[in-house]
Amino acid sequence: MRYTPEKFWSELLSELDESAISDVYLRQVTPRSLTEDCFLIAVPSDYTRDEIENRFFSSIKRVLSDRISPACAFEIFVDTPATKVPESGNGEPTPQNNNSDNAGLNPNYIFDNFKVGQSNRICHATAFSASENPGGEYNPLFIYGGVGLGKTHLLHAIGNHFQDITPDRQVIYVTSETFMNEYIESIINRQSAQDFRSKYRETDLLLIDDIQFLQRKEGTQEEFFNTFNDLYLKSYQIVMTSDRSPRMLENLEERLSSRFEWGMVAEIDKPNYELRLAILQQKCQDQGFADISNEVLSYIAEMVTSNIRELEGTLVSLKARASIQEEQLTLDFVRNILNDTSTPIRRVSGRKVVTAAAIQKIVTDHFQLNDDDLTSSKRTKAIAFPRQIAMYLCRELTQLSLLDIAEAFHRQNHTTIIHACSQVEKQLENEETRNLIEFLTGELK
Ligand code: ADP
Ligand code: MG
Repeated sequence: MRYTPEKFWSELLSELDESAISDVYLRQVTPRSLTEDCFLIAVPSDYTRDEIENRFFSSIKRVLSDRISPACAFEIFVDTPATKVPESGNGEPTPQNNNSDNAGLNPNYIFDNFKVGQSNRICHATAFSASENPGGEYNPLFIYGGVGLGKTHLLHAIGNHFQDITPDRQVIYVTSETFMNEYIESIINRQSAQDFRSKYRETDLLLIDDIQFLQRKEGTQEEFFNTFNDLYLKSYQIVMTSDRSPRMLENLEERLSSRFEWGMVAEIDKPNYELRLAILQQKCQDQGFADISNEVLSYIAEMVTSNIRELEGTLVSLKARASIQEEQLTLDFVRNILNDTSTPIRRVSGRKVVTAAAIQKIVTDHFQLNDDDLTSSKRTKAIAFPRQIAMYLCRELTQLSLLDIAEAFHRQNHTTIIHACSQVEKQLENEETRNLIEFLTGELK
């Protein structure tokens, strides 16, 4: 290689447009390694990574293609202390990372406490079958659906059941983000490359969560492709989850996404009323909430329709509130809270429907913007500020998840939304911003 990573990076900067050299995000980059196959840079935060991905990805790829090779992948690695012990990054309970004792499995996520209804029946059946008969009919198994619907729970349940019935066989649960971080570590630290390969290619059951994260991560896709082929040829079982179907995965190589359909693709849907109620009842049993009447549970199940995580979260926060206020969890108490728009859990109350589109329209009109300004990548203050306000309102007034909001604004990643909301929150001390938020909220209701 005629370039060191540092030299290549400085030449690359000079080839990007003029503003690149002084760009605050690009200045945080540390070039880490460069081979014919992969150019790797490190950045200090997820946010910086997203900014660079959103704004510079294609121009950097173009320079790589011209100067190094069209096949050279580009990877951004978030180099914070957290990545040394990678986390799942999505707020879910993350068991200790894979060690031979627990394989990364959460013992609380098992088939026994997974309630089955119309919306998840097929996923449950194929998941159970894959754990009893790995490498069989349902290999690979691809489970997809929205957030909080039970994908991660099922993945762990497969692993736990498999371990119960065949304790001598190997299982690994990993999020695709952790997979990527470990892969990158193995590139940086060459001795561990072999360990990485043998770890992932000699497991009887590989459970890989949130595969959508591999969109755009070309180097990791390549590695996963090879891992996949190896395991598949040996008839080892692979189970993946994703927030969308294989066909809807963007920036993922066709040869990879088409393999995802070789076995079984199953969708997990939103739970209906009966399933929501059954889950609440079970949760009360597990948590020892004996004093909550069925009437109250039915009311919660009626009101909270978005997903199971919200459902559980509402139950727990209602319980906590009642005990702080030393009140009984009666129907009146719950009604009051779920209908009171000033409480933090109003977002799950399910009755007032404000959509992202309505918010975007009101903000666009108020600031006299063009129709697509809010969803564009333009970053002038005249657009960036209204966009942050609109993102904040979406988080406050709708039932959408952060990922849903990101999608509504054509953003790749929910970290942009978190950043926007915290920017707005900082400005809430300012009376003008507060009035603006109040005014727009009033318009929406
Ligand atoms: P996802 O991975 O799809 O975002 P999770 O698997 O993390 O969702 O599920 C969110 C929460 O809901 C977890 O606490 C999980 O145990 C619970 N849950 C999801 N589906 C069920 C179900 N069918 N029965 C019982 N609990 C469930
Ligand atoms: Mg999950």
